[in-house]
Amino acid sequence: MQRVPPPKSPIAPALIAWQAHAGRHHLPWQETRTAYRVWVSEIMLQQTQVATVTPYYQRFMARFPDVRALADASLDEVLHLWSGLGYYARARNLHRAAIRIRDEFAGEFPQEFAHVESLPGIGRSTAGAILALSHGARFPILDGNVRRVLSRYFGVATPANERATLERLWQLAEICTPQVELAAYTQAIMDLGATVCVRRAPRCDECPLSQRCVARQTQRQHALPASRKAPVRPTRHAVMLVALNAEGNVLLERRPDSGIWGGLWSLPQFDTDDAARSYISQLRPSSQREPRVLGHVEHVFTHFTLVMHPILVRCAGEAAVMEEGSTLWYNLSQPARVGLPAPIRSLLQRVAEES
Ligand code: SF4
Repeated sequence: MQRVPPPKSPIAPALIAWQAHAGRHHLPWQETRTAYRVWVSEIMLQQTQVATVTPYYQRFMARFPDVRALADASLDEVLHLWSGLGYYARARNLHRAAIRIRDEFAGEFPQEFAHVESLPGIGRSTAGAILALSHGARFPILDGNVRRVLSRYFGVATPANERATLERLWQLAEICTPQVELAAYTQAIMDLGATVCVRRAPRCDECPLSQRCVARQTQRQHALPASRKAPVRPTRHAVMLVALNAEGNVLLERRPDSGIWGGLWSLPQFDTDDAARSYISQLRPSSQREPRVLGHVEHVFTHFTLVMHPILVRCAGEAAVMEEGSTLWYNLSQPARVGLPAPIRSLLQRVAEES
């Protein structure tokens, strides 16, 4: 029986040729493409631009050059190196996955798709990208950039958040994934989405897919992918306590593992002023100086805006630590290597400068 050759990708040859001269070739994770290095870069690049990721990636790799180094490190140190990059669940999952790789796969990054996809924080697209980029294995990918390219090229106009749309896009991703040159193709479609087929003002004149792109032919680049209605982002308020003792240490609490800033160290947080003031009474506040309200700080999360109202309290001498292990006195002039959310770090810098 004659074997039917697999269908040719409608976009791969043009994309691969374009990537060779116009794609990105000198990103730090492209130097040595081990699965570990690709994995860390893919996780860091989720929701985050290359320019932001690059210094974080370099510091992370210098400290954790392989899976074992990452698995053997404390979560605090991992979160410390992640501080400021946001979406901290990514760092916690990286650490958990590294421990599993060390313990279940003898420290070698797995090569089977099912094993890779089973690791914490790795979904179908990321698993495909890791195996395609590091081993040239044939798996489609569908990250945000690729969704945009495929939606426009094929004119997929149904709402982006519907299950049927996603299934259709995965089918198209499968059709477009070539049989050969998988690493080059995967890099090419990611690069096109990141640098040419960008969300606002796509540069269609420079695009290797422009001749057959439905969005371009119908002038619907801006309408695709069809956006879902953005929900109204609510605002929440929190009182943050900056308890400063005579040695220049600030009291921090470790946040629960789930929820915002999970596992990071932050200021004691309260829903109301009264709750904060009742806590203050346990801290031996200085009788000389009244608690002082500092300027508020806003931080925008994906689903809400947090308005923080800090209160500075000076403590007389060594105030008691409430629960060993979940609180620490953080020295402002010699900070411990622990993970702090970026707005809390900035607030503490401000306090250090003023005190
Ligand atoms: S022609 Fe324009 S809209 Fe179409 S894939 Fe290229 S950059 Fe995107």
